[in-house]
Amino acid sequence: MNYQTIIEEVSKEIKLTKDEGVVASYIDELKKINPEKFGVHLVTTNNAHFFYGDSNEKFSLQSIAKVFSFAYAYRIFGEKIWSRVGVEPSGTSFNSLLQLEHDAGIPRNPFINAGAIVICDILVSHLKDPKNELLDFVKGLSDCKDIDYCDKTALSEKQTGYRNAALINLMKAFGNIENDIELVLDFYFDLCSIKMSCKELSETFLFFANQGKHPRTDAEILTLSQAKRINAIMQTCGFYDEAGEFSYKVGLPGKSGVGGGIVALHPNKYSIAVWSPRLNKKGNSYRGIQFLELFTTKTEMSIF
Ligand code: GLN
Repeated sequence: MNYQTIIEEVSKEIKLTKDEGVVASYIDELKKINPEKFGVHLVTTNNAHFFYGDSNEKFSLQSIAKVFSFAYAYRIFGEKIWSRVGVEPSGTSFNSLLQLEHDAGIPRNPFINAGAIVICDILVSHLKDPKNELLDFVKGLSDCKDIDYCDKTALSEKQTGYRNAALINLMKAFGNIENDIELVLDFYFDLCSIKMSCKELSETFLFFANQGKHPRTDAEILTLSQAKRINAIMQTCGFYDEAGEFSYKVGLPGKSGVGGGIVALHPNKYSIAVWSPRLNKKGNSYRGIQFLELFTTKTEMSIF
């Protein structure tokens, strides 16, 4: 399969069309990004790399990082986690309050904001130094060591994080948050602020395509069953109320973030990251989805 030719063909093709997305504006720091940025990086399970455009420039992961915090918590606490959060697609936006009231403070899944906040609460309850321990876990997933939080972005989100404050307060009222609200929210904002390039992102997600094993050392990061299950949750919940459409158009498990990144993977084959900051109405990268749809069409490979 000539991934490089297809990546270049598809990138050039979509650059000829109008980008109808809009950069996220509710977090001040994200507004400053040049909306024309565009990068792609694909890495295969046997370590072949293919890339295009701004693939080495770091951007804010935002909700993509929820997969790391969830994987870490799942690795440590296993099935116990499911008493606090569900595995159903939400069919609502990432920061919706409506469903949470109806579901008595138990978020539908770990990839909407409420679910990721509960995972942060679990990590705060059980770890001595959640911020550094999580970062060490993420660094250990690949060979990229130059990965860090962005304090500026975390602070910027904290200043306007009214909906997340509402979500955590509602869950606290239902008894589904154990710790001090501010402590948990600060950790959540830190989590979302992690920065990576497309190259780093595709590399750190490769173990999900490698049956839960570190792609170079073969060490078990998650069991085969855990990796399979997280892929299933990415497939059904990774794009909020656009998860069905993403499955339909792209046919791979993946996760998006309001920084304009999308990462997707083909089990036993590859992991691919795309970055383009303008978002569609559902909060997912407009060109990112367009790229992946054409990419899986031209490669004629999806999990279905
Ligand atoms: N940090 C963002 C928020 O909480 C993440 C949202 C996203 O990427 N969908 O609103």
